[in-house]
Amino acid sequence: MVKMFDMGSNNQSDLCIIGGGLAGCEAAWTAAQKGVHVILYEMRPQKMTEAHVSGNLAELVCSNSLGSNLIDRASGLLKEELRFLGSLLIDIAEKTKLPAGNALAVDREAFSIAIENAVLSHPNIQVIRDEVKYIPDDLPVIIASGPLTSESLCKDIVRLTGEENLYFYDAIAPVVYADSIDFKIAFRASRYDFDNSAHAERIELKDFEKDILSGQQKFFEGCLPIEILAARGKDALAFGPLRPTGLKDPHTGHRPWAVLQLRQDNLAGDLYNLVGFQTNLRYSEQERVFRNIPGLENAVFARFGQMHRNTFLSSPGLINEHLQLISDPRIFFAGQLAGVEGYMGNIGTGLVAGLNAAAFIHGDPLPLFPIETMLGSMIHYLANSEKKNFQPIKANFGILPLLENPPRSKQERGRQYAIRSLDTLKNLRS
Ligand SMILES: Cc1cc2nc3c(=O)[nH]c(=O)nc-3n(C[C@H](O)[C@H](O)[C@H](O)COP(=O)(O)OP(=O)(O)OC[C@H]3O[C@@H](n4cnc5c(N)ncnc54)[C@H](O)[C@@H]3O)c2cc1C
Repeated sequence: MVKMFDMGSNNQSDLCIIGGGLAGCEAAWTAAQKGVHVILYEMRPQKMTEAHVSGNLAELVCSNSLGSNLIDRASGLLKEELRFLGSLLIDIAEKTKLPAGNALAVDREAFSIAIENAVLSHPNIQVIRDEVKYIPDDLPVIIASGPLTSESLCKDIVRLTGEENLYFYDAIAPVVYADSIDFKIAFRASRYDFDNSAHAERIELKDFEKDILSGQQKFFEGCLPIEILAARGKDALAFGPLRPTGLKDPHTGHRPWAVLQLRQDNLAGDLYNLVGFQTNLRYSEQERVFRNIPGLENAVFARFGQMHRNTFLSSPGLINEHLQLISDPRIFFAGQLAGVEGYMGNIGTGLVAGLNAAAFIHGDPLPLFPIETMLGSMIHYLANSEKKNFQPIKANFGILPLLENPPRSKQERGRQYAIRSLDTLKNLRS
């Protein structure tokens, strides 16, 4: 029997949340706002993961962008739904945002500190900095321990679900100091020797980073390291992260052959992210190869790209559309571990798990998000998609039910999906 601590003599916890990341913080806030006493466990800074660098709650481990803000884009629609539902993290993202065109990018430090302050000061939330090794069995639980869930907890999840966790590998992009970029040419990208990265030396993965079943490296197709992409063909990068679509070189007035996008990474504007350049090259090779890019000849790296573990549950048939474990409805899953991919999906499933756990605790009917909404569709996918070949899902219009008369224009289709979704949500509330 695994017992949790009380919150205090007259303040017993109703809900345990494991993991103070994006999903866990959103879930804790959502449930606490519904009057639930939450105990939130976060193992950092005592025990760090392979990717987090601080003890802050809701640390963004890689990009500082939460994706598009346009509602005719899938990620933008998901954001709008979450705004409508009162998401804490989206509200804080707005308050800590950086200039990023149509995207919502944040100052990562300000973002996580503001979330931590909000969570710590909520009267219904108690945060405990400790690793949870076993899933408690005496109260409702939300497991939101993320793609880098600690090993002991992974084993307990496997024991509980009767499923082996699956592993595959993502890679993160390097960050360079702004003052080391040559801004006289930073907007002009040209083709460089792509073979450089295809043949440069890669870091050997450690045993824990390999697929537990096959012992082989497994990559997620949506986030391939550039050296893997480059090895697929001479022009593969020019059609991938370096595609110049919609850009003109201000010096020539022509569309360039290839463009590396640099995205501002912090409010101070002194760090830039090499967008789409996630990589597993050796650090010395990253310096050598990336300094071939015009404008980056003298780049100083604040962070090198690296590979990371990504743990997720094979959720179809295991969890239902309330994110509840079918074999033990007291337990909910949220975030990357539940099989969603990307910051927005993690925040969204945190909100849904928080609402459902609160209803479960109060003995109310559990809320079900309509399939016409991006949130509802993503969770429907987790619960009902084909188990064989299951892969984590990002917000995308392909999972929504078709429109009755879909317009030909992609943008207009996106707009109509958004109108339908937001109307559905408004009708639910009224
Ligand atoms: C290296 C890396 C880079 C990524 N880059 C991007 C990106 O650029 N864009 C994007 O959209 N998505 C990215 N992702 C995917 C995903 O969106 C993020 O990982 C996101 O933070 C996941 O949210 P989460 O809440 O599920 O997990 P997390 O934010 O990781 O939160 C889980 C928390 O649980 C804690 N924890 C783990 N085990 C225990 C335990 N046993 N007891 C207590 N606490 C525990 C961890 O310390 C962590 O704080 C990346 C993932 C990784 C690993």
